[in-house]
Formats: sequence, structure tokens, C-alpha cells
Amino acid sequence: MSRCHDLRTRLIHGGLHRVAGAVVQPVFQTATYEAEETASYDDIRYLRLSNSPNHRDLAARLAAITGGEAAVVAGSGMAAITTTLLTLLESAPGRERPHLLAQDCLYGGTLSFLAEDAPTLGIDVDFVNGDDDHQEWASRSRPGTRAFLVESLTNPLLEVADLEAVTAFCRERGIVSVIDNTFASPVNYRPLEAGFDVELHSATKYLNGHSDIVAGAVISTQERIRRVTHKMNHLGGVLDPHACFLLQRGLKTLALRVEQQNHNALFLAQRLAEHSSVAAVHYPGLAGHPGHERARRWFAGCGGVLSFDLGGPEAARRLIDRLELAVEAPSLGGVETLVSRPAVSSHAGQSPERRRALGIGDGLVRVAVGIEAAEDLWADFEAALAGG
Ligand code: PLP
Repeated sequence: MSRCHDLRTRLIHGGLHRVAGAVVQPVFQTATYEAEETASYDDIRYLRLSNSPNHRDLAARLAAITGGEAAVVAGSGMAAITTTLLTLLESAPGRERPHLLAQDCLYGGTLSFLAEDAPTLGIDVDFVNGDDDHQEWASRSRPGTRAFLVESLTNPLLEVADLEAVTAFCRERGIVSVIDNTFASPVNYRPLEAGFDVELHSATKYLNGHSDIVAGAVISTQERIRRVTHKMNHLGGVLDPHACFLLQRGLKTLALRVEQQNHNALFLAQRLAEHSSVAAVHYPGLAGHPGHERARRWFAGCGGVLSFDLGGPEAARRLIDRLELAVEAPSLGGVETLVSRPAVSSHAGQSPERRRALGIGDGLVRVAVGIEAAEDLWADFEAALAGG
């Protein structure tokens, strides 16, 4: 739509294709469609092939939102990530064994896939620091290196890799640059406009925003999305049409929600940083955070996740038990505030030594803020810190 200039307008109208005059797209709850003669397997109209009106309109909206040529949705963030990597890192007779450079502090599910499954599928992986270190990146690259995977903000310390250097490095060497932009969301960071080749999301988080579905998204060029979709048609990681409907609905308020979450997280981070019981606060919106300058340059906001250290596990446990508004649960990006202890949730699978090396102490608390009033949230944390 030519009049969809601003992201907030594209979130409402992008990719819209009205059916029977319905203002809101209905759910096409059908597994199969009347047959049409088609030359291609991918064009047979069948639910697993992600070509229902729900899938197509949602994909068009995601492309419009992110500035990509095309998109495909998946049954989870992990389905989006694994299907994309398996597409980009396919083995071919006569070609070098496929190799991936991956940031060393990616989401735990992605790390486990890369460490445990990728080698069994003929894919080599090297984990590298996300900071500008062309020497390490270059020394780990080989003729078979096809892709470099990073995240826009890492969990739970909210590190910001040298994203500009990643795209430049990949461009120079003909490597596909891939970013999981789940934590920043397209409101705060626009990877495709910044030079990344592929943008991935766990749409479970900010894109949907209501903690009621799991979904994933891949956005890139027409040709790459055609290949990823073909692979997904074989692997079967399709999103259900009702989940497409919910995701389409959630997307409409993305900008409003993320703006409030940026505000809430910064407000909470500032108050926590001033509190005498808090040993450290990790949020790139704070001037002392190592990613602050990069975030200021590249991001419109720093997102809704922060973490802070209370020194030991007992203090962290006590705080969580005393919170009334914030719910103890994994995940992020929903309208309600969630808290977790990374040492016993996202990073429980890592050894205590490895966690210490990563800077993830037993007293670390992660907060994924919702859209409540910032003052109410701070009152909840302040009372819990005071023993209330
Ligand atoms: N990427 C990031 C950054 C995540 O935090 C998560 C889940 O927490 C995923 C991917 C996986 O997403 P899903 O749970 O939708 O498969």
C-alpha cells in the first residue's frame, strides 16, 4: 500500500487483503483447498505449505513492517531459526562442508541446536565473540563459511554485538548475515535496513505480545524466503491458521506496546541502579552499560528486558517471592511483567563455572517488563526489595 509510510500505519494496513468486505481477516480453518492445476509442489493449496490467506497476508504484513521483500511464518521461533539455518547451510556435492559463525551468547535453544544437532547434520559451527574482532572472525572463517548468526540484544545481560562490523564483514566475504531480532523488535532496530540479509524472530515474544501463542518469522529476499519455505514444507514447522490470526491481531499494537515497554524498562533500570540492595543493573539504556553507545547509535529504544544482581540466590529468591504484580515465568515480550532467575531457568543447562565466566551470577534476576504503569511496577519491586 503506497500510503503506508510510517511503521505504525504499516502495522495496521500492511499486507492487508480484505475478504468478503471483512475489516478483520477471518480464520481460514481448512486444511485443504479446491484443487487447481499447478506446476509446483509448493503451490498446492494445503495448510502445511503455508499458503493459506492467513499465512500469505501475515507474511506480507511482516515484510511491510521490516522492509524485507518477503517473509514466512513458522510454528515457533525455533522452527524459524532451524529451518533458516538448514536452508542456508545445505550440503552440496563438490562444495566444502557448510560452516556457520555464531555469536557465543545466543538464546539457549539456538545454542543447543548448534552444539548438539548441527554437527550430526553435517554442519560445522564456530562460536565467536560478538564484539568487533575481525581477527577472530577471520581466523575462524573458512571456504565453507556460509552464514554469521547474531542477536540484536543478548539474554540476560543485554549485550549489543558490533552489528555494523558483522554486516561489513559478511558483505566483504560473501557470507549471509543473519540476526535474531526478537529482543529489540522491528520497533527498536531495523536490521534489513542496516544491511543484514536475514531477520529472524520468535514471534512468541514482542510481535504477538500477549503470551498466548508460539510462532516464528523469517524475513529476507524473495529468493531466500522461497528456499526457506520449501525447506519448511518438508520439515513441517507450519504455523496454525488460528495462531496466524492471533499474531496478525497482536502485531497491530506492536509499536504502542514496545514504546511503553522501552519506557518501563528504562524507568525500572534507573530506579534499581539507585537502590542500595542492588549490586549491578544490566540495561543498555543506562550510560554505564557496555552496549550503551551502540544502542544509542542504532536503536530507537532498548527494549523491555533488563537484569539486575542482588549478590546471592537467597536475596533473588526472596525478592521474587515478594513480588505481587510481576509473575515468575520464562519468556518475554508480553503485556504482563515476567521475572526469572537465569541461573535456574534459561542458563540452568550451563555449568556454574561457565555461568560465572559469562557474568551470570546466582543472584541475577531477569525482568521482562509488560505495559503496566511504570510507577506501579517500581512500587512492586521497591516493596519486595524492602521486604514487603
Ligand atoms: N530467540 C530468542 C532470542 C528467544 O528468546 C527465544 C525464546 O525464548 C527463541 C528464539 C525461541 O523462540 P520460541 O520459543 O518461539 O521457539
